[in-house]
Amino acid sequence: MSVYDSLGVRPIINASGPVTRLGGAAMPQTVLEAIQDAAREWVPIEQLQAAASKMISQVTGAEAGLVTSGAAASLTLGAAAIMAGYDLGRMGRLPNTESMPNEFVVARDQRSGYDHAVRAAGAKLVEVGFNEVVAGAGVRRAEAWEYEAAFNERTAGVLYVYTSTSQPALESVVEAAHRHDLPVLVDAAGELPPRANLMLPAMTKADLVAFSGGKAIRGPQSTGLLCGEKELIASAALQMLDMDDHWELWEPPVEFIDRRKLKGMPRHGIGRSMKVAKEEIVALVTALAIFASEDPTDQNEMHREHLQLIVEAVEGPTVRCDIVESLGDERVPLLEITLIATDALEVCRGLRKATPPIYVGHGKLSEGKLVINPMCLDRDAAETLARQLRKEL
Ligand SMILES: *Cc1c(COP(=O)(O)O)cnc(C)c1O
Repeated sequence: MSVYDSLGVRPIINASGPVTRLGGAAMPQTVLEAIQDAAREWVPIEQLQAAASKMISQVTGAEAGLVTSGAAASLTLGAAAIMAGYDLGRMGRLPNTESMPNEFVVARDQRSGYDHAVRAAGAKLVEVGFNEVVAGAGVRRAEAWEYEAAFNERTAGVLYVYTSTSQPALESVVEAAHRHDLPVLVDAAGELPPRANLMLPAMTKADLVAFSGGKAIRGPQSTGLLCGEKELIASAALQMLDMDDHWELWEPPVEFIDRRKLKGMPRHGIGRSMKVAKEEIVALVTALAIFASEDPTDQNEMHREHLQLIVEAVEGPTVRCDIVESLGDERVPLLEITLIATDALEVCRGLRKATPPIYVGHGKLSEGKLVINPMCLDRDAAETLARQLRKEL
């Protein structure tokens, strides 16, 4: 009996991938062992974060890094760092930002529920641009000059949500912002793989970049990364760490937090409610090392076999199967199942009610498609899914 069964909660088959709603990624065995090891001893958290920062810096090319409680927390902390810097008064006042530049310029078509995390720090979002392509009104989306036209003395920085199709290009937005000495905070939470995107801070000169730790990196679901410019990372750390110490005794590693730049010891900051445990820091750093060094070709080959097994079970005159791969960018192959004779929403509902319940990707239901993400499927789960899906159809 699993620990979930003993609580009366039935484990599911997860064909949706490492989504938060279903519990995130499958952590590698090495990561699980690192969590156990980390739990047996104690270390000052700021020293552990400083060590994590070094490791993150090596992998991302950023000056510094911080393990956070998720990419959303990275966005709150990033916005707080940009608005407060090393100013103790400002740190103390957040999320009240009346007395400081608090506007973040963002392309209108990059807004989503996740930007709540930025607003939580007290930031005010100022929208620019139009997506005239989606509106059916034209051929253009947001453009870099529109950011510059929105900058004023209340502007704190820029928020940019990165995907491979985001417009305008991140580099052009960074250039525009830096011309006005404004920093750029990037949400790249789900943009790994490709592993090359780990280098976004170095490649694009963006000041701060947020990644999820519990998606493709396969760390704990409750972790994330914030990486970028050293002083901003230090400010973010100061606003998250437990600050209950004596100024006379407090000696954070100087390469991580330079206390000579502070007028005193900050109180618990806005990020205190987003703390990370030593086990989580160790786990994420371990997972990141594996993610950065492992060629995903073998993993993807195994995923493809599992998807193929489902294709063989369900493909037919009224069920079209397409394994979708974006070649060369390391992304996990996905299986799109187009239902011609059955209602995709009904099949999706039926699968959730099966024993065991099966959760498939539901992003394309409106196109009559189920999407199978193989990241959290082993062979047994793929076989059970194939059998149950056949039954539903
Ligand atoms: C997943 C995601 C987040 C949130 O990441 P967490 O690590 O779950 O906090 C934020 N922004 C985008 C675009 C995401 O895909």
